[in-house]
Amino acid sequence: MCPAGLELSRGAGRLIGTVLETAGGLYRVHIEGEALECSVRGRLKKEGGSRVAVGDRVEVERLPDGSGRIVDVHPRASKLSRHAPSRRREQIIAANVDQVAAVVAVARPEPDRRMLDRLLAVAELNDLGAFLVINKVDLIPDQALPEELETYRSLGYPMLLTSASDGTGLDELWARLEDKVTVFSGPSGVGKSSLLNALMPGLELRVGEVGERSGRGRHTTVGALLIPLPRGGYLADTPGIQHFEPGFLDPRELETAFREMAPLKGTCRFADCRHRAEPGCAVIAAVADGRIDGRRYEGYLELLEIADQASERVIRGNSSA
Ligand code: GDP
Ligand code: ZN
Repeated sequence: MCPAGLELSRGAGRLIGTVLETAGGLYRVHIEGEALECSVRGRLKKEGGSRVAVGDRVEVERLPDGSGRIVDVHPRASKLSRHAPSRRREQIIAANVDQVAAVVAVARPEPDRRMLDRLLAVAELNDLGAFLVINKVDLIPDQALPEELETYRSLGYPMLLTSASDGTGLDELWARLEDKVTVFSGPSGVGKSSLLNALMPGLELRVGEVGERSGRGRHTTVGALLIPLPRGGYLADTPGIQHFEPGFLDPRELETAFREMAPLKGTCRFADCRHRAEPGCAVIAAVADGRIDGRRYEGYLELLEIADQASERVIRGNSSA
């Protein structure tokens, strides 16, 4: 007689699941409604490019002791990564992400546009769809949105108005999340944990829990975590992503992070225009006549500055190596 585990892996073949979380070389894999603790087959670890990431679809063999072993990783449909210069390894935060839900509140706290713009930049740079979840609409009369949020409607980002307190908009939110892998992110205090608890009463997240698991500032964040949704799909909790700084980004790529700049591509006087103060800059002209929102443009300049400094550090670092 074979041990039960072996019989299962031979009889039923490999199981297919989704990686929920990784820690210390172990992986929690969501298979048929259960989370299975898995190791990774040695050969897979060495195949540089296909290291296992949260969100990966994987094939698993069940071992006699009841745990599992990841034996194959399916090709990724998309990934959320920090952009890396050519000489460093790309950091994949999560694989197979479908969309980014940027959560803000109408008030308490006031919308943090800087953080919102960074989150949307992450989505654009990774070619992921994005929408805004505007929570706490119970705090404003007649759902009159703060004017600064109207900018995002005109940029074409879908906006969902919700209230975790009175249930407004939760059906629409469900409809957007179902069967998708969604990065659910935003500043602390906007109601992310409250929304998830309202959507999934069994979950019982502590208030303030989502996106705050590191608690130690932006550079010591812990890894991503997928939360299975009862109607299919996953929420990706990616601590620190809203503090994104384009340290590993070519400053020339940055304009793709601001979708309103796309139509102006190639129309500045200088082909290498960074849209900072160059003569004949089409972006600066668009800001001057109101086609581009001035505060979005300031956000661009801020990220450009950070990206410039970081790439200088990389160049210096590389030449001294
Ligand atoms: P998180 O840090 O984004 O996870 O935010 P929390 O879910 O911890 O919520 C922060 C605070 O906002 C808590 O005191 C919640 O009770 C409150 N809150 C959350 N959602 C709403 C809402 O829709 N309306 C109102 N009025 N308060 C809310
Ligand atoms: Zn320009």
